[in-house]
Amino acid sequence: MANWQFTKGLHDIGNGCYAYLQPDGGWGWSNAGLIVDGEENLLVDTLFDLRLTQEMLDTMRDAVPAARSIRTLVNTHSNGDHTFGNQLVRGAEIITTKATADEMLERPPEHLAALVRDRDQLGDGARFLYEMMGKYFRWDDVVYTEPTRTFDEQLNIKVGAKQVRLVKAGPAHTRGDLLVYLPERRIVFTGDLLFMGGHPVIWAGPITNWIKACDTILGWDVDVVVPGHGPITDKTGVAQISLDPYADWIDSERIILNVAALYREYGMTERPDVMTLWADMYRFHQAGLCNCHRHPAPSHPVVS
Ligand SMILES: [Zn+2]
Ligand SMILES: [Zn+2]
Repeated sequence: MANWQFTKGLHDIGNGCYAYLQPDGGWGWSNAGLIVDGEENLLVDTLFDLRLTQEMLDTMRDAVPAARSIRTLVNTHSNGDHTFGNQLVRGAEIITTKATADEMLERPPEHLAALVRDRDQLGDGARFLYEMMGKYFRWDDVVYTEPTRTFDEQLNIKVGAKQVRLVKAGPAHTRGDLLVYLPERRIVFTGDLLFMGGHPVIWAGPITNWIKACDTILGWDVDVVVPGHGPITDKTGVAQISLDPYADWIDSERIILNVAALYREYGMTERPDVMTLWADMYRFHQAGLCNCHRHPAPSHPVVS
């Protein structure tokens, strides 16, 4: 695996591309990217608040003259740790998927600011959110700045002479996740479709789409992978979350029973009856998630 340092700040990943990293990559500590070519530039994501985003933009401008004025911003998905700094590049074209633009409207910064402000009335969830994020980030001065251009499945753009492919891969982490792929430079910015060294968060699902997104990346010619959180990696960082070692085990639908067992273990008192679990296992097969060692494929067609 490529050996990139996981330190705060701007990292030159070659070919006029940069990654801006924020260790430790936990809740809200997201990465961003910069692509330059001649006088043209493209920023991949902003950060969780104005102070952090300004600090990042200043660092980029100091190191890369062509980043003086950001022309294009791509938001990889709707979460605030990738969008709340958008107002600092106002005037730039802001591109994302239609699904992400819609989802952004549902989760403005005022919601998070209010949850943190009223945490003592709101209980454990809001207090946990404060402990994990509210303590470190400031949201009460964020003016939400929406995308100015959206697309549905794929958009090919250019940054100077560089080809940049924006490919929708959600719903997975969120409803509208996209990948930023530079085929000629063999670089991909994954947004939160990759958390290196951290547990992924499934806000939207389905997981099958997430696996598809990983397979898409693994199918591309890629040398450098910049995740949404955590250290820079390469394709081995994408492949290592594969469950391949267990792929040959039969009766994979038993995961339904096992997840239910774990929920009981964690204290959930509502217990689905066993026939409901069998029905869920049936749907698991119908959705094509089983490995089908024991049944001929035609007996449970894949539902797409
Ligand atoms: Zn994130
Ligand atoms: Zn996210």
